[in-house]
Parts: sequence; structure tokens; C-alpha cells
Amino acid sequence: MTPLLEVSGLTAFYGPSQALFGVDLRVGAGEVVALMGRNGMGKTTTVRCICRMMPAGGGRIAFAGHDLGALASHEAARHGIGLVPEGRRCFGPLSVEENLVCAARPGEWDLGRVGDLFPRLIERRPQLARTLSGGEQQMLAIGRALMTNPKLLVLDEATEGLAPVVRQEIWRAIRALKRAGLAILIIDKSLKDLKALADRCVILERGATVWSGAPTALTDDLCVRYLGV
Ligand code: ATP
Repeated sequence: MTPLLEVSGLTAFYGPSQALFGVDLRVGAGEVVALMGRNGMGKTTTVRCICRMMPAGGGRIAFAGHDLGALASHEAARHGIGLVPEGRRCFGPLSVEENLVCAARPGEWDLGRVGDLFPRLIERRPQLARTLSGGEQQMLAIGRALMTNPKLLVLDEATEGLAPVVRQEIWRAIRALKRAGLAILIIDKSLKDLKALADRCVILERGATVWSGAPTALTDDLCVRYLGV
């Protein structure tokens, strides 16, 4: 079966400096894939290329049967990729509700369903996003991405900088999204949570895919060699 997302031989540059040297990864419908690797190995750059926030240097990005190469980022969203970017990025001067509603596209995810996942957002509907706690802003960033009714949700460090109890709330929500059948590409620092969640792991080393397999095949040796843990 054709995967939902298929990235092959992806390269990318920041000015003259090359950051990606050949990333290969695929995400099937309903599959959860963890993108792993030490700091600076190219995870965020890969996600930026997939979401068309920066141009690929070369290689191919196919999503739901379309070649994404020529699309702008708002078009990527229209094709069904929902990004929760590193650092959250909600619209601070807008209320929680406005943040959610302005992202909305038709589909099964609406205010009610996002509220079921994160009841706290509904309690805080009129509150300005910039006055939310870090955890609430993260919930809002995930809620906004869901309101676009994506076929693929991309989570870049969604639990970064949060208190352990809030982190657990976010992981609970991500697990619920997996159970609901959403395809997810996820970057996170918690190897333990990633291994418990993911169907497959892809490891990047110096901007290229060096390993891909089931979390159960991710041996201590591989973790030491590629993840530094
Ligand atoms: P981290 O876990 O630290 O976020 P990462 O695996 O997501 O790391 P990237 O942020 O994709 O890695 O970085 C890949 C390479 O590209 C690194 O060498 C980094 O220094 C470089 N890089 C990232 N962003 C920029 C930028 N805006 N300008 C120039 N170089 C960049």
C-alpha cells in the first residue's frame, strides 16, 4: 500500500550550509513514526521541509499521492498536514477560541472534539493565548493543528519545557490521537515515551537516515551509538 507520507533522498540547505544529506522516511495511514537523533542531526529541518516552511534542496516528498515539492506551507496544510511547531507559536493577542476557530477546516475535529481532548481549553475560551501557561499553550497548539483536520499530525518537541505532570497530560492526549487512528510524525526528547507510543522509529545522523525499525528492535547499542543515551 502507498504510504501517506513518503520522503526519499531529502536534502536541504541553510544558505551555503547543507543540513540534510539524504533523509528517507515513510508514514502509513494511522501509523505513528518517531523521528529520532541527537541535537542538530536534522529532525526539525526535515519537518520544516515536509511542511513546506523551507524549500527542499533535492529529493522527493510525496503526501497522499501528491508531490509536495512545489507547494507553499499554507497549501501543505490544505493537503492535510497539521504541524505543531517547536516553540508552540499560538497567536498571543487572540483568544483561545479565536486561535482555534481561525485554523478550522471542515471535518470531524471541531471545537467540541478539541474540548473533549483538552477540557481546559474550553474553560479558557475567552482568555488571550499569551496569558496561558506553557502547558495550556501547547494544548492550544495541538488543538489548532487538529482543527485543520489533518491526515498527518506533525509534533516537534510538544512536551519540551513543561512540568512533568503537564507533560503526562500531553502524552495522554497524543496516545488518544493514536487510538483515534490519526497518523503522527513525532519528535521528542523522551525516548521512553516515544518507544511506548511509536509503531516505527527513524534515526537521523548528520542529516541522513541511518536506521529505521520497530521500537522493540531499537537496542541499547543503537541508542548509545545514535542517541547518546
Ligand atoms: P534539535 O534537537 O537541537 O532541535 P535537530 O535534530 O532538530 O536538533 P536541526 O534543527 O534540524 O536539528 O538542525 C540541523 C542542522 O542545521 C544543524 O547543524 C543546525 O545547526 C543547522 N540549522 C538549523 N537551523 C538553522 C538556521 N536557521 N540557520 C542555519 N543553520 C541551521
